[in-house]
Amino acid sequence: MNRKVFIERTTIGISSLLVSPSLFAKKKAILQKPYPNATPFAIATWNVQKATTTAGQALDQGMNALDAAVQGVAVEEANLLNSTVGKGGAPDRDGNVSLDACVMDSNGNCGAVLAVENITHVAALAKEVMEKTPHVILAGEGARKFAISQGYQAEDLLTEESKKAWQKWLEEGHYQPEINVENHDTIGMLCVDKEGALSGACTTSGLAYKMKGRVGDSPIIGSGLFVDNSVGAAVATGLGEEVIKTVGSFLIVELMRQGKSPQEACEEAIQRILEKQKTKPDFQVAYLATNKNGVLGAYSIHSGFTYTIYKNNKCQNINVKSIF
Ligand code: ASP
Repeated sequence: MNRKVFIERTTIGISSLLVSPSLFAKKKAILQKPYPNATPFAIATWNVQKATTTAGQALDQGMNALDAAVQGVAVEEANLLNSTVGKGGAPDRDGNVSLDACVMDSNGNCGAVLAVENITHVAALAKEVMEKTPHVILAGEGARKFAISQGYQAEDLLTEESKKAWQKWLEEGHYQPEINVENHDTIGMLCVDKEGALSGACTTSGLAYKMKGRVGDSPIIGSGLFVDNSVGAAVATGLGEEVIKTVGSFLIVELMRQGKSPQEACEEAIQRILEKQKTKPDFQVAYLATNKNGVLGAYSIHSGFTYTIYKNNKCQNINVKSIF
């Protein structure tokens, strides 16, 4: 094929793609709002009532779903008593607090930051990556520098409490991811606004005493969080390595697309993890999902996982079913 023929054929191919009615219809479905005249609501992993209420009330006042999710999770990022998210999060084994976060909106836009030090509000930073850079992910020092350029304050994220706990851990230095250490953990939040748009944010300090540079599922789009406005959304918490291996949140959304209920989809995603285990797992993984009609599902490997929902001026913490 000479160059001219190649260019002609390629141009015909591209222009037929551009006008293909089926492709156009698919694109429209993705951009369609999932719940016209929706009742706004916010759901989040674990018992985070202040964060979920903050997001829910903002939604009631007309805030869009993405901003509400970022504002909601910011409450836990700033909570010094939460040792699994933001400032006050447990450090890696060298004593550095490094944070991971991502966001995804109703149009399929997403942003993420990985292993960021000295910046508290990493979910907001992930949103800035999405909105102000040509990239989806910024990692480490690059993410930190970008934050400073956007006016974020560099802070020491290691509190006296978490420093003491880390020093105690160093005495033995035995590494073992723990199950449900606290009643809060990585916060993954999904919000639906008055326009019916669905968005989410996920933020964490990752596993306590991880290796420096370790990144879990939470900032990985499709693993810690996935949103598809025409289907639904899911978030994960627990041992990130296992969530990444099965691309958990994407899997749940795809199972819902195939007709599973959010509960069935969450249960199958947990089952995929268990299929690979030879013995009863000593780690936790938990999922929370909503479909486009606002039907929720949640499931975990071990008991102890809860989620929080704010809807119609009411905030509740709900116990979740588990395999064990
Ligand atoms: N999923 C987080 C991570 O692996 C940790 C957690 O949710 O507990 O980094």
